[in-house]
Amino acid sequence: MTPLQILQTKFGYSGFRLEQEAIINAVLQKKDTFVLMPTGGGKSLCYQIPALLFDGLTIVISPLIALMKDQVDALRVNGIEAAYLNSTQSFQEQDYVLGKIRSKELKLLYLAPEKLLKPESSFFKTITSFDISLIAIDEAHCISHWGHDFRPEYLMLAQLKHALPSVPFIALTATADRLTRKDILDKLELKNPITYLSSFNRPNIRYIVEPKRNSFEKLLTFLDKRKEESGIIYCLSRASTERLADDLTSAGYQALAYHAGMDRETRARHQEMFLRDEARIIVATIAFGMGIDKSNVRYVVHMDLPKNIESYYQETGRAGRDGVDSEALLFFTIADLVKMKRFVEIENNQEQTEVYLKKLNQMGTYGDLYYCRRKYLLNYFDEEAPDYCGNCDVCLTRLETFDGTIIAQKALSAVTRLNERVGMIYVIDFLRGSKSEKIREEHKQLKTFGIGNDLSKEAWKGFIHDLVQQGYLIKTDGMYPVLNLTDKSEDVLKGNVTVMLTKSKEHLDVVADGVENYDTDLFQKLKEVRRDLANAENVPAYIVLSDATLIELATYLPHNKDEFRQISGFGDIKIEKYGKHFWDVIAAYCREHDLGSRIQLKSPKRQRNTKSETANDTQRQTLGMFKLGHAISHIAETRNLTMGTIETHLAFFVQQGELPIEQIIPSEKVILIEKALGTSTGPGITPVKQQLGDACSYGEIRLVIAHREFLKEHVHSNVSSD
Ligand code: ADP
Ligand code: ZN
Repeated sequence: MTPLQILQTKFGYSGFRLEQEAIINAVLQKKDTFVLMPTGGGKSLCYQIPALLFDGLTIVISPLIALMKDQVDALRVNGIEAAYLNSTQSFQEQDYVLGKIRSKELKLLYLAPEKLLKPESSFFKTITSFDISLIAIDEAHCISHWGHDFRPEYLMLAQLKHALPSVPFIALTATADRLTRKDILDKLELKNPITYLSSFNRPNIRYIVEPKRNSFEKLLTFLDKRKEESGIIYCLSRASTERLADDLTSAGYQALAYHAGMDRETRARHQEMFLRDEARIIVATIAFGMGIDKSNVRYVVHMDLPKNIESYYQETGRAGRDGVDSEALLFFTIADLVKMKRFVEIENNQEQTEVYLKKLNQMGTYGDLYYCRRKYLLNYFDEEAPDYCGNCDVCLTRLETFDGTIIAQKALSAVTRLNERVGMIYVIDFLRGSKSEKIREEHKQLKTFGIGNDLSKEAWKGFIHDLVQQGYLIKTDGMYPVLNLTDKSEDVLKGNVTVMLTKSKEHLDVVADGVENYDTDLFQKLKEVRRDLANAENVPAYIVLSDATLIELATYLPHNKDEFRQISGFGDIKIEKYGKHFWDVIAAYCREHDLGSRIQLKSPKRQRNTKSETANDTQRQTLGMFKLGHAISHIAETRNLTMGTIETHLAFFVQQGELPIEQIIPSEKVILIEKALGTSTGPGITPVKQQLGDACSYGEIRLVIAHREFLKEHVHSNVSSD
């Protein structure tokens, strides 16, 4: 069997995600490999599929005992022979597993690193005497001091490498900066490792920040639209998790607290109930989540500011591992930033404290951001990203701009009058003519004092941020940043330029209701079937089938085995085991509502997005890479195609309305090209290109044309439906 066949028959997925196939091939060629892929990216298959193709045993080193059991359960459900060994098991259990290895009944063994102890230990000798085909090191950053979770036991793994010189190693992690990455390769002593660095982008997670005022009411509004969905709510303190869980329970939600101060039993019970969907919400400190592999977490809320972007990224990454649209909501106030400073201080270690303070400030910047949040996150991890992602609160509310020249002039002249010596809040108070004593008397005498009292504080904040973004003002670095003018300021003050500003946004409106094009009633019924099956097998529900799979069932209403096979997540074993149970419910539902199968709506390649059924594979692949944040030039190079071809691929999706033009070309440029198109004299795009010169490429012009096509159709259909 080929890797693809295994993927389809054993795991029930139609195609590999980016890089998975290349990684699997490298492993099959017995090369040492290093994989950096974000949480939910699909790391496990990178060693699970080779494990099934190799003759011998694959050992997976994993530090997280909870996760281990889960992964083994998930494999067994797919009919794959796997087991684990860790220190929580009795000797009998361990012997049983070792016996299975000896009789070659196992393909995969999950192993806790502390089991290996020393090379002299008999366990180490036993293990290394087996016929081993592959060693996979999960959470490989644990081997480095530079990582955020150093575990000394991991250092032993170099000995394992020495003992098994001809066995390929694959090291995998979801979080590692450059320093940690290098350290992993060194410490493991990998041989000419092939490195795969995937994008950190999680396109299905929508990033939202809300001002932390009336946060409980806002939270209720948010949860009210998500009653049937699972979510994690993070709080800073243990006490606040318990309080919030109580408050939510009083408000009618099934919410449980989780923190390290609770007794072990309660904690384990709460976690288990959450995993099994018996409780929808877990309100936790950051102690919760390590090793939680629940794939159907639909939202992660932060009531308080996390300490750094790494933690925030990892915690929000627990949402949407199944690829279904999910949300990350942060309640933010500057006051939290100040409060948190205490928490990142390391006593008697000024140097380390500085590092942590810087990280905290970067987290604060995220909360107060006036450009795409995804771009900020990706740039933080050294990754390029387009200006517009279309799936964060900033991008979603950035739509309306207006001529804000006068507002800009007011702000800039205030900064001038105040001699570029004060911070934003002072400037705003000054503009609004605040009576506060904080404003110096001599400033109150100035002519510009109070010229901006027609706007609210919040509105001014937005506009000043906007002006900073656009380079008309600059905010200095340091503890007390002040606003300064820039080279571009003079033109504004003299009235030589028009300044476009973004209208202040309406919060929580972007927290959309979620547009379902499947039947939610049926979905709930399918969930019940799944829960019963899961309980019967004593595994969490998402191990039976993911939410994404149930959504497909509820969307396409498959009617027979062949049709079930087309549903993502249904491998042969799962069809045999569970197919009938789901079929009964779907059939009853279809009879009741007089519905037939809709499987023909599903594009043969089983892409989730069925909007453009005619998109071919190569176009899709381009789109996939582009959405992961790769530049057109990079995609062209990687795929060995010309940039023009790549642009043509993208133009297809622009015309379908699947890809906003702003994600590809900056809006100023779009406007420029549109103008040129409007005034073009001759046919074809050559005259347009001639008019624009080197400012734009042919490809960009074609993309704008595709965008216009989309608008034409879109506007037309709006009119006709009125
Ligand atoms: P990671 O270990 O990188 O966090 P997992 O290996 O747990 O991620 O995979 C995340 C989810 O994505 C799992 O539910 C997995 O079954 C699913 N998945 C992985 N690869 C594919 C694929 N090629 N097609 C569809 N789903 C996939
Ligand atoms: Zn965005």
